[in-house]
Amino acid sequence: MSVDLLLKGGTVMDPASGREGVLDVAITAGRVAEIGPSLDTAPAQRVIDVAGMLVLPGLVDLHAHVFARMGIGTDPDCSCLPYGTTTAADGGSAGAATIDAFRAYVIERVQTRVYAWIHLATQGLIDIRIGELMQLAYADIDAVVQAIEANRDLIVGIKARLSNYAVGMSALPVLRLLRQAADAAQVPVMVHIGASGEPLPTILEWLRPGDVVTHILTGWPNGALDPTGQLHPAVREAQRNGIYFDAAHGRMHVSFPVVRRLLDQDFLPNGLSTDVTVPLMQQDPSFHLPGFLNKLLALGVPLRELIPLVTSNPGRKLGREPWLGSLQVGAPADVAVLAWEEGDFSVRDSFGVEARLSRRLVPHLTLKDGREHRPPAGT
Ligand SMILES: [Zn+2]
Repeated sequence: MSVDLLLKGGTVMDPASGREGVLDVAITAGRVAEIGPSLDTAPAQRVIDVAGMLVLPGLVDLHAHVFARMGIGTDPDCSCLPYGTTTAADGGSAGAATIDAFRAYVIERVQTRVYAWIHLATQGLIDIRIGELMQLAYADIDAVVQAIEANRDLIVGIKARLSNYAVGMSALPVLRLLRQAADAAQVPVMVHIGASGEPLPTILEWLRPGDVVTHILTGWPNGALDPTGQLHPAVREAQRNGIYFDAAHGRMHVSFPVVRRLLDQDFLPNGLSTDVTVPLMQQDPSFHLPGFLNKLLALGVPLRELIPLVTSNPGRKLGREPWLGSLQVGAPADVAVLAWEEGDFSVRDSFGVEARLSRRLVPHLTLKDGREHRPPAGT
């Protein structure tokens, strides 16, 4: 059998299958043809030497903003694909009134695999200067349920931000409407916390297994820690009961002191996501999931514990395809190749707190359906 491309000699880590080690990956017709040690190079039309590099399933970003040319939305083929992310779930950029445009003008035209958390607010996040649910009339339950019915292939759940800048003092009324809509449409919810009007344990009372809390590493009030710096017991219990805690980075939602406290108390989020937006990319052009991995590596989280947070966990959370976030023979060849760079590097949290590391990951090559994408020079 002829092979289009052979990734030779990389260190494969695929938490979903438990496969780990120096293995070659053969790709034919956009799909994974074989994974194994020392595969024969003879049938390969192209061989790429990835010795010393990490070969991972295409990364899955559970919370990104990729409604390109609308508000804060980035073009996923620029913000995701070059940096190892092959699948992105948009975090509520579109609502019922804008989901059709998102599908027609972005999702169907980009190469990145895109899903959507539809916003509870009918207009979505077309301009974040305006709190999208300051007026509760924008939460049109019938409209959001209808939009979900019409776009089940695309929509993975309903999103709402509970911060005071998004909902004013209406966190609880918004939660009530969100619950109502999600139950009617039979989909999970994603709630954005940090500077919210209610403590996290109160918010958790409204959530069910499969729901997502995003920005769990936030340093803003009403995050994972109580005022004395202890992890709310309700958070640990909720995680045990199947609530998914997503550490969306964003411009202002990672605090190293919070992360350290959480790690000290043996709490790790279920997943890491970027919450990438145009302002974020302008602020830090090198912002991407591997960059987020470096921050947690600098704080001492072992690589083996981090990889599931950007592959198998968000892949399973999306639950759309059995192969999302994993490397499977016969499945689409979505692969992230990351290189190691040695040196003295600095990473920062959203408040300028620094941490250092001597070895960092840099995006090297992405395959999406077997097609090659590379980061811009100098990344
Ligand atoms: Zn977001």
